[in-house]
Amino acid sequence: MPPQRRQVSIPWSAPSTHPRIYPFFLPFRGCVTRCLFCAQDIVTGQNTSHAPLKPLLDQLWLGLEMAVKMNGPLELAFYGGTFTALSDLEFASCLDLVVAAYAKGLILAARCSTRPDTLNGSRLSLMRKAHFTTIELGIQSFNQESLDICKRAYDRKLALSACQMVKESGFKLGLQLMPGMPKNTPQIFLADVARTLKNGADFLRFYPCLVLANTGLAKLWAGQNYQPWDLDTTINTLAQGLNLAHQKNVSVIRIGLPPQMDLTQVLAGPWCPDLGSRVQAWALFLAISKIIGSPQEKTKNLTSMTLNLPKFMQGFFWGHKAELLKPYAELGLTESRVTFGAASCPTLFFEG
Ligand code: SF4
Repeated sequence: MPPQRRQVSIPWSAPSTHPRIYPFFLPFRGCVTRCLFCAQDIVTGQNTSHAPLKPLLDQLWLGLEMAVKMNGPLELAFYGGTFTALSDLEFASCLDLVVAAYAKGLILAARCSTRPDTLNGSRLSLMRKAHFTTIELGIQSFNQESLDICKRAYDRKLALSACQMVKESGFKLGLQLMPGMPKNTPQIFLADVARTLKNGADFLRFYPCLVLANTGLAKLWAGQNYQPWDLDTTINTLAQGLNLAHQKNVSVIRIGLPPQMDLTQVLAGPWCPDLGSRVQAWALFLAISKIIGSPQEKTKNLTSMTLNLPKFMQGFFWGHKAELLKPYAELGLTESRVTFGAASCPTLFFEG
Protein backbone atom coordinates (compact mmCIF):
# COMPACT_ATOMS: atom_id res chain seq x y z
CA MET A 1 0.00 0.00 0.00
CA PRO A 2 1.39 3.49 -0.87
CA PRO A 3 2.21 5.62 2.18
CA GLN A 4 -0.64 7.81 3.34
CA ARG A 5 -0.06 11.49 3.88
CA ARG A 6 -2.07 13.60 6.25
CA GLN A 7 -1.66 17.23 7.15
CA VAL A 8 -2.89 19.27 10.08
CA SER A 9 -2.87 23.07 9.93
CA ILE A 10 -2.56 25.16 13.07
CA PRO A 11 -4.63 28.35 13.04
CA TRP A 12 -2.33 31.36 13.20
CA SER A 13 -3.27 34.78 11.94
CA ALA A 14 -0.20 36.84 11.07
CA PRO A 15 -0.56 40.53 11.96
CA SER A 16 -1.15 42.76 9.00
CA THR A 17 1.62 45.28 8.41
CA HIS A 18 -0.26 47.59 6.01
CA PRO A 19 -0.70 50.43 6.25
CA ARG A 20 2.01 51.32 8.72
CA ILE A 21 0.88 53.22 11.77
CA TYR A 22 2.18 56.67 12.64
CA PRO A 23 1.53 57.11 16.38
CA PHE A 24 0.86 60.44 18.02
CA PHE A 25 0.71 60.38 21.82
CA LEU A 26 -1.60 62.51 23.91
CA PRO A 27 -0.62 61.27 27.40
CA PHE A 28 -3.53 61.55 29.85
CA ARG A 29 -5.31 64.10 27.65
CA GLY A 30 -9.05 63.70 28.02
CA CYS A 31 -8.72 61.22 30.88
CA VAL A 32 -11.56 61.57 33.35
CA THR A 33 -9.81 59.57 36.07
CA ARG A 34 -6.27 58.44 36.76
CA CYS A 35 -6.31 54.66 36.63
CA LEU A 36 -4.38 52.92 39.37
CA PHE A 37 -1.75 51.33 37.11
CA CYS A 38 -1.34 54.10 34.56
CA ALA A 39 1.78 56.14 33.89
CA GLN A 40 1.39 57.29 30.30
CA ASP A 41 4.25 59.75 30.77
CA ILE A 42 6.61 56.83 31.47
CA VAL A 43 5.18 54.55 28.78
CA THR A 44 5.24 57.20 26.04
CA GLY A 45 8.37 59.03 27.27
CA GLN A 46 6.40 62.28 26.93
CA ASN A 47 5.05 64.69 29.49
CA THR A 48 2.87 66.92 27.40
CA SER A 49 -0.46 66.48 29.15
CA HIS A 50 -0.81 70.16 29.99
CA ALA A 51 0.95 71.61 26.95
CA PRO A 52 -1.15 73.55 24.44
CA LEU A 53 -2.29 71.19 21.69
CA LYS A 54 -1.81 73.44 18.66
CA PRO A 55 2.04 73.38 18.63
CA LEU A 56 1.96 69.62 19.18
CA LEU A 57 -0.32 69.16 16.18
CA ASP A 58 1.98 71.42 14.11
CA GLN A 59 4.89 69.14 15.03
CA LEU A 60 2.79 66.10 14.23
CA TRP A 61 2.06 67.46 10.75
CA LEU A 62 5.77 68.05 10.03
CA GLY A 63 6.73 64.61 11.33
CA LEU A 64 3.98 62.99 9.31
CA GLU A 65 5.06 64.70 6.09
CA MET A 66 8.63 63.48 6.61
CA ALA A 67 7.55 59.94 7.45
CA VAL A 68 5.31 59.76 4.39
CA LYS A 69 8.21 60.82 2.13
CA MET A 70 10.06 57.72 3.31
CA ASN A 71 7.20 55.23 3.71
CA GLY A 72 4.28 56.39 1.60
CA PRO A 73 0.82 57.03 3.07
CA LEU A 74 0.35 55.90 6.65
CA GLU A 75 -2.40 55.41 9.19
CA LEU A 76 -2.40 58.09 11.87
CA ALA A 77 -3.08 56.87 15.41
CA PHE A 78 -3.93 58.94 18.48
CA TYR A 79 -2.80 57.03 21.55
CA GLY A 80 -2.03 57.56 25.22
CA GLY A 81 -5.13 59.38 26.45
CA THR A 82 -8.90 59.32 26.09
CA PHE A 83 -9.45 60.59 22.57
CA THR A 84 -13.24 60.64 22.60
CA ALA A 85 -13.25 62.73 25.80
CA LEU A 86 -11.00 65.52 24.57
CA SER A 87 -12.43 69.03 24.95
CA ASP A 88 -14.62 70.13 22.02
CA LEU A 89 -11.87 72.39 20.75
CA GLU A 90 -9.10 69.78 20.94
CA PHE A 91 -11.29 67.09 19.44
CA ALA A 92 -12.18 69.36 16.51
CA SER A 93 -8.50 70.32 15.99
CA CYS A 94 -7.47 66.66 15.77
CA LEU A 95 -10.26 65.88 13.34
CA ASP A 96 -9.39 68.90 11.18
CA LEU A 97 -5.80 67.67 10.99
CA VAL A 98 -6.93 64.17 10.01
CA VAL A 99 -9.22 65.52 7.28
CA ALA A 100 -6.43 67.73 5.89
CA ALA A 101 -3.86 64.90 6.02
CA TYR A 102 -6.27 62.59 4.22
CA ALA A 103 -7.03 65.21 1.56
CA LYS A 104 -3.30 65.69 0.99
CA GLY A 105 -2.74 61.95 0.60
CA LEU A 106 -0.55 61.69 3.72
CA ILE A 107 -2.79 59.17 5.46
CA LEU A 108 -5.12 56.42 4.37
CA ALA A 109 -7.08 56.36 7.62
CA ALA A 110 -6.92 57.26 11.32
CA ARG A 111 -7.51 55.42 14.56
CA CYS A 112 -7.51 56.21 18.26
CA SER A 113 -7.48 54.54 21.63
CA THR A 114 -10.02 55.54 24.23
CA ARG A 115 -11.99 54.47 27.28
CA PRO A 116 -15.22 52.53 26.86
CA ASP A 117 -17.21 54.98 29.00
CA THR A 118 -16.54 58.03 26.82
CA LEU A 119 -18.20 57.07 23.55
CA ASN A 120 -21.07 59.06 22.18
CA GLY A 121 -22.92 58.76 18.91
CA SER A 122 -22.31 62.26 17.60
CA ARG A 123 -18.54 62.12 18.12
CA LEU A 124 -18.35 58.66 16.55
CA SER A 125 -20.26 59.90 13.55
CA LEU A 126 -17.89 62.88 13.15
CA MET A 127 -14.94 60.50 13.36
CA ARG A 128 -16.38 58.27 10.66
CA LYS A 129 -16.76 61.27 8.38
CA ALA A 130 -13.17 62.29 9.16
CA HIS A 131 -11.75 58.95 7.92
CA PHE A 132 -11.28 57.21 11.25
CA THR A 133 -11.73 53.50 10.61
CA THR A 134 -10.59 51.88 13.88
CA ILE A 135 -11.24 52.45 17.56
CA GLU A 136 -9.22 50.70 20.24
CA LEU A 137 -10.89 50.37 23.62
CA GLY A 138 -8.78 50.06 26.74
CA ILE A 139 -11.01 47.44 28.34
CA GLN A 140 -8.24 45.93 30.54
CA SER A 141 -10.61 43.31 31.98
CA PHE A 142 -14.29 42.51 32.17
CA ASN A 143 -13.80 41.38 35.76
CA GLN A 144 -15.68 43.80 38.02
CA GLU A 145 -13.33 43.47 41.00
CA SER A 146 -10.32 44.25 38.80
CA LEU A 147 -12.09 47.24 37.26
CA ASP A 148 -13.13 48.60 40.65
CA ILE A 149 -9.79 48.28 42.37
CA CYS A 150 -8.05 49.96 39.43
CA LYS A 151 -10.50 52.88 39.57
CA ARG A 152 -11.68 52.35 36.04
CA ALA A 153 -15.03 53.89 37.00
CA TYR A 154 -17.21 51.80 34.70
CA ASP A 155 -18.73 48.39 34.90
CA ARG A 156 -18.52 45.30 32.81
CA LYS A 157 -21.94 45.88 31.26
CA LEU A 158 -20.84 49.25 29.99
CA ALA A 159 -17.62 47.79 28.58
CA LEU A 160 -19.65 45.26 26.62
CA SER A 161 -22.07 47.84 25.28
CA ALA A 162 -19.12 50.04 24.21
CA CYS A 163 -17.79 47.16 22.09
CA GLN A 164 -21.20 46.86 20.46
CA MET A 165 -21.40 50.62 19.85
CA VAL A 166 -18.03 50.71 18.10
CA LYS A 167 -19.01 47.83 15.82
CA GLU A 168 -22.46 49.21 15.06
CA SER A 169 -20.92 52.56 14.18
CA GLY A 170 -18.92 50.86 11.44
CA PHE A 171 -15.43 50.89 13.00
CA LYS A 172 -12.96 48.09 13.36
CA LEU A 173 -12.74 47.20 17.04
CA GLY A 174 -9.40 46.75 18.81
CA LEU A 175 -9.45 45.67 22.46
CA GLN A 176 -6.67 46.06 24.97
CA LEU A 177 -6.41 43.69 27.94
CA MET A 178 -4.18 43.91 31.00
CA PRO A 179 -3.40 40.40 32.26
CA GLY A 180 -2.16 40.36 35.82
CA MET A 181 -3.89 43.53 36.96
CA PRO A 182 -5.12 43.41 40.58
CA LYS A 183 -7.59 40.58 41.26
CA ASN A 184 -6.85 39.15 37.82
CA THR A 185 -5.99 35.47 37.65
CA PRO A 186 -4.92 33.48 34.57
CA GLN A 187 -8.44 32.01 34.46
CA ILE A 188 -10.00 35.47 34.52
CA PHE A 189 -7.67 36.67 31.77
CA LEU A 190 -8.52 33.70 29.54
CA ALA A 191 -12.22 34.32 30.14
CA ASP A 192 -11.61 37.97 29.20
CA VAL A 193 -9.96 36.91 25.94
CA ALA A 194 -12.91 34.65 25.13
CA ARG A 195 -15.30 37.50 25.88
CA THR A 196 -13.45 39.96 23.62
CA LEU A 197 -13.62 37.41 20.79
CA LYS A 198 -17.31 36.80 21.40
CA ASN A 199 -17.93 40.53 21.32
CA GLY A 200 -16.49 41.13 17.90
CA ALA A 201 -12.87 42.20 18.49
CA ASP A 202 -11.06 42.56 15.17
CA PHE A 203 -7.69 42.55 16.91
CA LEU A 204 -6.29 42.51 20.45
CA ARG A 205 -3.39 43.88 22.42
CA PHE A 206 -2.08 42.27 25.60
CA TYR A 207 -0.33 44.60 28.04
CA PRO A 208 0.72 42.59 31.14
CA CYS A 209 0.41 44.68 34.26
CA LEU A 210 3.65 46.26 35.46
CA VAL A 211 4.18 48.31 38.60
CA LEU A 212 5.30 51.72 37.35
CA ALA A 213 6.71 54.47 39.55
CA ASN A 214 4.40 57.15 40.94
CA THR A 215 1.21 55.21 40.39
CA GLY A 216 -1.47 54.07 42.80
CA LEU A 217 -0.45 50.53 41.97
CA ALA A 218 3.09 51.26 43.16
CA LYS A 219 1.64 52.18 46.58
CA LEU A 220 -0.45 49.03 46.66
CA TRP A 221 2.59 46.94 45.75
CA ALA A 222 4.82 48.71 48.31
CA GLY A 223 2.22 47.95 50.99
CA GLN A 224 2.28 44.30 49.91
CA ASN A 225 -1.31 44.49 48.78
CA TYR A 226 -0.55 43.59 45.19
CA GLN A 227 1.78 41.04 43.65
CA PRO A 228 2.32 41.09 39.87
CA TRP A 229 2.43 37.86 37.88
CA ASP A 230 5.86 36.32 37.42
CA LEU A 231 7.32 36.01 33.92
CA ASP A 232 6.65 32.26 33.51
CA THR A 233 2.98 32.62 34.48
CA THR A 234 2.68 35.57 32.13
CA ILE A 235 4.24 33.78 29.15
CA ASN A 236 2.25 30.62 29.69
CA THR A 237 -1.07 32.42 30.20
CA LEU A 238 -0.63 34.87 27.33
CA ALA A 239 0.34 31.98 25.05
CA GLN A 240 -2.98 30.30 25.83
CA GLY A 241 -4.77 33.59 25.20
CA LEU A 242 -2.93 34.00 21.91
CA ASN A 243 -4.02 30.55 20.79
CA LEU A 244 -7.64 31.36 21.64
CA ALA A 245 -7.38 34.45 19.43
CA HIS A 246 -5.76 32.54 16.55
CA GLN A 247 -8.51 29.94 16.68
CA LYS A 248 -10.95 32.76 15.86
CA ASN A 249 -8.61 34.23 13.23
CA VAL A 250 -8.04 37.36 15.34
CA SER A 251 -4.57 38.90 15.55
CA VAL A 252 -2.90 40.00 18.75
CA ILE A 253 -0.99 42.94 17.36
CA ARG A 254 1.03 43.84 20.46
CA ILE A 255 2.23 41.92 23.50
CA GLY A 256 3.91 43.97 26.23
CA LEU A 257 4.77 47.62 26.60
CA PRO A 258 7.21 49.24 24.15
CA PRO A 259 10.87 48.45 24.88
CA GLN A 260 11.94 52.09 24.54
CA MET A 261 10.26 53.18 27.76
CA ASP A 262 12.31 54.18 30.80
CA LEU A 263 13.00 50.87 32.52
CA THR A 264 14.24 52.53 35.70
CA GLN A 265 10.57 53.38 36.33
CA VAL A 266 9.45 49.75 36.23
CA LEU A 267 9.37 48.76 39.90
CA ALA A 268 8.07 45.22 39.51
CA GLY A 269 6.26 42.90 37.14
CA PRO A 270 6.89 40.59 34.20
CA TRP A 271 9.00 42.93 32.11
CA CYS A 272 10.91 41.34 29.24
CA PRO A 273 12.01 43.05 26.02
CA ASP A 274 11.32 39.86 24.03
CA LEU A 275 7.98 39.10 25.62
CA GLY A 276 6.07 39.08 22.32
CA SER A 277 8.32 36.55 20.62
CA ARG A 278 8.55 34.37 23.75
CA VAL A 279 4.77 34.25 24.04
CA GLN A 280 4.42 33.42 20.34
CA ALA A 281 7.03 30.67 20.61
CA TRP A 282 5.34 29.11 23.62
CA ALA A 283 1.87 29.41 22.07
CA LEU A 284 3.05 27.54 19.00
CA PHE A 285 4.71 24.88 21.13
CA LEU A 286 1.49 24.38 23.12
CA ALA A 287 -0.57 24.10 19.92
CA ILE A 288 1.85 21.68 18.26
CA SER A 289 2.32 19.47 21.31
CA LYS A 290 -1.46 19.27 21.71
CA ILE A 291 -1.79 17.90 18.17
CA ILE A 292 1.15 15.50 18.38
CA GLY A 293 0.05 14.30 21.79
CA SER A 294 -3.55 13.72 20.74
CA PRO A 295 -4.69 10.09 20.81
CA GLN A 296 -5.24 10.24 17.07
CA GLU A 297 -1.64 11.20 16.30
CA LYS A 298 -0.03 9.07 19.02
CA THR A 299 -0.83 6.03 16.92
CA LYS A 300 1.21 7.46 14.02
CA ASN A 301 4.79 6.68 13.30
CA LEU A 302 6.44 9.90 14.51
CA THR A 303 9.57 9.37 12.42
CA SER A 304 7.45 10.35 9.43
CA MET A 305 6.46 13.73 10.81
CA THR A 306 7.56 17.10 9.39
CA LEU A 307 6.56 20.67 10.15
CA ASN A 308 6.36 23.50 7.65
CA LEU A 309 6.22 27.05 9.01
CA PRO A 310 5.71 30.53 7.55
CA LYS A 311 9.00 32.35 7.14
CA PHE A 312 8.17 35.03 9.71
CA MET A 313 8.27 32.37 12.45
CA GLN A 314 11.95 31.68 11.89
CA GLY A 315 12.91 34.40 14.38
CA PHE A 316 11.04 32.95 17.34
CA PHE A 317 10.13 29.32 16.67
CA TRP A 318 12.92 27.69 18.71
CA GLY A 319 12.26 29.99 21.66
CA HIS A 320 14.38 32.28 23.78
CA LYS A 321 18.02 31.11 23.56
CA ALA A 322 16.70 28.02 21.70
CA GLU A 323 15.03 26.81 24.92
CA LEU A 324 12.45 24.86 22.91
CA LEU A 325 14.94 22.77 20.92
CA LYS A 326 14.88 20.01 23.51
CA PRO A 327 11.13 19.97 24.15
CA TYR A 328 10.51 19.83 20.39
CA ALA A 329 13.06 17.02 19.99
CA GLU A 330 11.18 15.11 22.70
CA LEU A 331 8.06 15.44 20.55
CA GLY A 332 9.96 14.06 17.56
CA LEU A 333 10.54 17.42 15.88
CA THR A 334 14.27 17.77 15.43
CA GLU A 335 15.74 20.63 13.39
CA SER A 336 15.92 18.56 10.20
CA ARG A 337 12.16 17.99 10.32
CA VAL A 338 11.27 21.69 10.47
CA THR A 339 11.26 23.93 7.40
CA PHE A 340 10.42 27.59 6.93
CA GLY A 341 8.88 28.67 3.68
CA ALA A 342 5.85 30.05 1.93
CA ALA A 343 3.27 28.37 4.18
CA SER A 344 0.55 30.74 5.32
CA CYS A 345 0.12 28.91 8.62
CA PRO A 346 2.07 26.21 10.50
CA THR A 347 1.33 22.79 9.02
CA LEU A 348 2.24 19.35 10.34
CA PHE A 349 2.61 16.50 7.85
CA PHE A 350 2.26 12.87 8.93
CA GLU A 351 3.21 10.11 6.57
CA GLY A 352 3.13 6.38 6.96
S1 SF4 B 1 -5.40 53.98 31.54
FE1 SF4 B 1 -6.23 55.25 29.92
S2 SF4 B 1 -7.97 56.29 30.89
FE2 SF4 B 1 -6.72 55.51 32.56
S3 SF4 B 1 -5.37 57.22 33.08
FE3 SF4 B 1 -4.29 55.93 31.60
S4 SF4 B 1 -4.68 56.83 29.60
FE4 SF4 B 1 -6.19 57.66 31.05
